[in-house]
Amino acid sequence: RMNTDIGQHILKNPGVAQAIVDKADVKQSDIVLEVGPGTGNLTTRILEKAKKVIAVEQDPRMAAELTKRFQGTPAAKRLELILGDVIKMPELPYFDICISNTPYQISSPLTFKLLATSPSPRTCVLMFQREFAMRLFAKPGDKLYSRLSVNAQMWAKVDHVMKVGRNNFNPPPQVESNVVRISPKSPRPQVSYDEWDGLLRVCFVRKNRVLRSGFLGTASVMAMLESNYRTYCAQNEIVLEDGSLENGGEGMDKVLEVDTELGDKRARLCDEGDFLKLLYAFNQEGIHFA
Ligand code: SAM
Repeated sequence: RMNTDIGQHILKNPGVAQAIVDKADVKQSDIVLEVGPGTGNLTTRILEKAKKVIAVEQDPRMAAELTKRFQGTPAAKRLELILGDVIKMPELPYFDICISNTPYQISSPLTFKLLATSPSPRTCVLMFQREFAMRLFAKPGDKLYSRLSVNAQMWAKVDHVMKVGRNNFNPPPQVESNVVRISPKSPRPQVSYDEWDGLLRVCFVRKNRVLRSGFLGTASVMAMLESNYRTYCAQNEIVLEDGSLENGGEGMDKVLEVDTELGDKRARLCDEGDFLKLLYAFNQEGIHFA
């Protein structure tokens, strides 16, 4: 059988749809980004409260249905429909709040995109598969602890809103869902998102491995860091002398064994403080992750 599950599980319980919108605490002046409006069950409720809804929908048939639903109504003027893949949009338009019954295949890239958005939205209320939601809350040492957990908790406060059983959807998905609220920290931590996420990518390639082997034992990591180091030197007018790149290895060693003493620790046990310490120490050595 062909896999026809493209994530179009329409929310059929009006109580749940209303609860999702209520939990976002939409104000009259807010611009709301809705990802994957489908037939508009959430959209219609958001339009009752918001100044404007920007809805991004990938499926032209769904987009047509949405347009039809609001055609000729006063709300139509406050609905902007963008036909396309939200993940492929180079830049999101300005919005105060994001609400989405998220298509499951884009849960991860959408969350990362929302966390990287600056200025940060005030809040995001999102429906996810239950296991994905649990990853957002996972702590060091938990089985589900990952780059996603660290990023979510670094940039935002994450709250559990409610559980939603599969029978609230048509057709019912394979798994249970959870609604979560992701409220970005304000002000944003004064750390470069790309540097931070670049460090985490290296650390979480294998989260059970000690950090030392992740950094020093991986040719592709060394190549990436070397190339970043060359860029950094070029930008800062530092002249690279022969052999100075090999010192990159020494610099890394110093960071891991002396400055942070984290060489023996495994990423799955490191907390936000450990990663911040690592990033700071690497940057002090001129080692960059973006
Ligand atoms: N919001 C509706 C509801 O709650 O009933 C529909 C939700 S349905 C789970 C997900 C919707 O997202 C579908 O309409 C699908 O076409 C759309 N979608 C899937 N991938 C998308 C993407 N990358 N960008 C924008 N929309 C997408």
